[in-house]
Amino acid sequence: MTETDVVIIGGGPAGLEAAISANDCGAKVLLIEREERLGGILKQCIHDGFGLLRFNLRLSGPEYAERFIDEFNKRNLDSLTQAFVTDIVKNEDGSFILKAVTKEGIKTIHSHSIVLATGCRERTGKQVFIHGTRPSGIYTAGTAQYLINILGLMPCKKCVILGSGDIGLIMARRLTLEGGKILGVYEAKSTPSGLERNLLQCLYDYNIPLYLSKTVTRVFGKERLEGVEIASVDEKMNPLKGNEEYIACDGLILSVGLIPENELAEKLGVEIDPRTKGPKTDQNLMTSVDGVFSCGNSLHVNDLVDYVTESGQMAGKAAAEFICKERKEIPIQISEDLAYSVPQLLSLNEFNGKFTIYFRVKKEEEKPTIRLNVDGKEVFKKTYLFLRPTEMQKIQVDLSACNLQENSLLKLEMSKEA
Ligand SMILES: Cc1cc2nc3c(=O)[nH]c(=O)nc-3n(C[C@H](O)[C@H](O)[C@H](O)COP(=O)(O)OP(=O)(O)OC[C@H]3O[C@@H](n4cnc5c(N)ncnc54)[C@H](O)[C@@H]3O)c2cc1C
Repeated sequence: MTETDVVIIGGGPAGLEAAISANDCGAKVLLIEREERLGGILKQCIHDGFGLLRFNLRLSGPEYAERFIDEFNKRNLDSLTQAFVTDIVKNEDGSFILKAVTKEGIKTIHSHSIVLATGCRERTGKQVFIHGTRPSGIYTAGTAQYLINILGLMPCKKCVILGSGDIGLIMARRLTLEGGKILGVYEAKSTPSGLERNLLQCLYDYNIPLYLSKTVTRVFGKERLEGVEIASVDEKMNPLKGNEEYIACDGLILSVGLIPENELAEKLGVEIDPRTKGPKTDQNLMTSVDGVFSCGNSLHVNDLVDYVTESGQMAGKAAAEFICKERKEIPIQISEDLAYSVPQLLSLNEFNGKFTIYFRVKKEEEKPTIRLNVDGKEVFKKTYLFLRPTEMQKIQVDLSACNLQENSLLKLEMSKEA
């Protein structure tokens, strides 16, 4: 059996930084990754735009990952690649036994804390209710990206993209650069889902049309996709009858959302927030199970990798410093118009007052004011020009003067000034 202090599951940017930061705190670490190489999803993201906040540079995904892989290797940290963690059990003494399937068979690992950095997966056609046959030529945007950027294969020539999420926008540009024709990006919502900069740089710069309040309702073709049916939708995103149009194409790319990957967390009995689909955590990113930490896209879907790295750093440090003790914490309440906050709990154990909270709004808001109140007293206030659901926000406050108790009331609120 392999013995270690901290096991990190997932070798993407979150897991790599968690391993580095746990090692900085003196812990013996083991990073487990199911793929052959470290780097996670960044390996296939060859466009630039990574590291703007952390390095003030526009790096490609592999360049960003390389910086952390180099740091990981420089420290000679232990990793197991082509190893898939299938099971974790908590012992009576609070430590953990993990089982990982590897090329050499099943490996057993004993660890004192765990960082879950398993990333997220894409929603598929099955989850968006498209009627019709099941021909080839229908891909999630990430699969199409893997085919082009890693395998060097062109998935289609004339293509429709469903969903205006960032990966779909990036793939619209990528397919165009490789000689493909993008007939349009169709979005069921009345506003685009991707970042403003991706709309400009990936669609408008290439004259690729974006159609809002429209969706794909049917696919046609026996062996290979021959066309799709497009329909307008109402404000509840239900297709409207009578306005359907047929578009001939050999590719349909789905960019319809990401889901945090949390099967292992669920197996461990970690409480999941239905709003983020990731574990509920305190500000040290400890989940509801003592000694289990979560970071990166498995915690909540991030739009920028810089925030993923930041969360990896926090989780790695906290996992290394973890000592089993009675937890004292306060739930963080949010007003109705906010989609979610991370963390959801503030731990009072060894709390130094410095507190960072991430949040998203439910819908686009003009000139909203965000306040953080502790026991009715305002500790943070900021009025924004705009807040959009696609752009995660971060606020940092110092609560050391607040005399926080377990029965304190902490509320993040949005209001509109008259
Ligand atoms: C197409 C695309 C474009 C993007 N563009 C940008 C951009 O321009 N700028 C930017 O800042 N951000 C961008 N992002 C976002 C950024 O890349 C991600 O937020 C970040 O890479 C997520 O990191 P992660 O470590 O949480 O997850 P991942 O990188 O997904 O890593 C998770 C790892 O966990 C492993 N794993 C999962 N389960 C197990 C298990 N049971 N056992 C072992 N291993 C396991 C997986 O194999 C994977 O390697 C983009 C993302 C995508 C998908």
